[in-house]
Amino acid sequence: MFGDAAARLGVDLLFATDRCHMLDDPWLDRAVPIRFHDEASSVRAILEAARAKPIDGILAVGDRPTVIAALVARSLGLPGHPPEAAAIARHKQLTRERLRSAGLPAPWFRSVSIDADPRAIASTLTFPAVVKPVALSGSRGVIRADDARTFVAAFARLQALMRAPELRAERNEAYGTALVEGFIPGREFALEGLMHHGALHVVALFDKPDPLDGPFFEETIYVTPSSEPPARQRAIVAAVAAAAGAIGLHHGPIHAECRVNDEGVFVLEVAARPIGGLCARVVDGLEEALLRHALGGPPDVRTLDRRASAVMMIPIPAPGIFRGVDGLDEARRVGGIVDIQITAKLDQRLVPLPEGASYLGFIFARGDRPADAVAALRAAHARLRFAIDAELRVLAAGQLQ
Ligand code: ADP
Repeated sequence: MFGDAAARLGVDLLFATDRCHMLDDPWLDRAVPIRFHDEASSVRAILEAARAKPIDGILAVGDRPTVIAALVARSLGLPGHPPEAAAIARHKQLTRERLRSAGLPAPWFRSVSIDADPRAIASTLTFPAVVKPVALSGSRGVIRADDARTFVAAFARLQALMRAPELRAERNEAYGTALVEGFIPGREFALEGLMHHGALHVVALFDKPDPLDGPFFEETIYVTPSSEPPARQRAIVAAVAAAAGAIGLHHGPIHAECRVNDEGVFVLEVAARPIGGLCARVVDGLEEALLRHALGGPPDVRTLDRRASAVMMIPIPAPGIFRGVDGLDEARRVGGIVDIQITAKLDQRLVPLPEGASYLGFIFARGDRPADAVAALRAAHARLRFAIDAELRVLAAGQLQ
């Protein structure tokens, strides 16, 4: 998508992607091979590439490279988010501390070692509470607990996730810490914005029409424009601007999530990046606007389609092996549907939240009103039938007894 946008703008793109440097350009995109978990060597590799071919702007797509992008921008003298702010934005405990110090609404919170004994912690908490890793994204590992018993189970589940070899391999110190915080009741919103030399410009405010009450917090539907009254929309924008300022985010894309109730707007996080991956398609012209802004242009998104726009991140209904999907043609014919992308690969192992980190795919819809676009998503989703085989567990002989 960025490639297409760059071609339209006449911009040359140089990718830096997370992969092994021993592979010889496996995707034929001439990307600079970097390792997201190794910031110093990634920055060096990008700066090296910049010596051969000067870089005029930098854009982080996805959560993990945000600090690397900020460090490169600083080294090259390009406007961007300060690296310290990008690091705070990626760390849920540091974000909470910043918001609390700035006097912004925040739940009670406490950081604990992932190796702690949950029984000892449980007796000191008030419920409902939420337990989460400080440095994962996409709701991975985020679990609500309503009492001591469910807290102990939730914590054990988070421990198992954080000890998985795949996460250990990243050697990220922050994976050793969990955050326990008060559950914030209310409705949830997301704000896509561009910070322009310290000022927030709103690209889109999204309503999330499905209740997100746990125990796991699967994002499903985002719809824009918001149907909230203007005063509430202004309150959300003001809260996100204040939170971004408290974190120190200064120039570049931001994606914020917040929950709203009678006590105010609680900003959960402000990420130093745009809305994730394919989902970006929900905002017409977003990639072009991001590239223009990264190159020093104004913070505007020239939306061609003024209608309401919605996306569903198709949740994984059950763990297992993905065998295919029926009803795709029928779903695509539902009025208002603009595209359906199934991103799960055949025979892929599917892992739902809270352990998983992916969706089955995405459904995009447009409508005259936000409710029409949402209704189209639900109607299309109802027509999709996913075949998922249960996984067969292979046990060693000794495990059979
Ligand atoms: P991530 O960065 O992994 O998305 P978040 O902290 O933003 O993690 O949490 C993911 C989702 O979990 C939120 O969008 C929200 O629905 C839910 N959630 C997280 N913390 C709370 C909380 N304290 N109260 C209520 N819901 C929460």
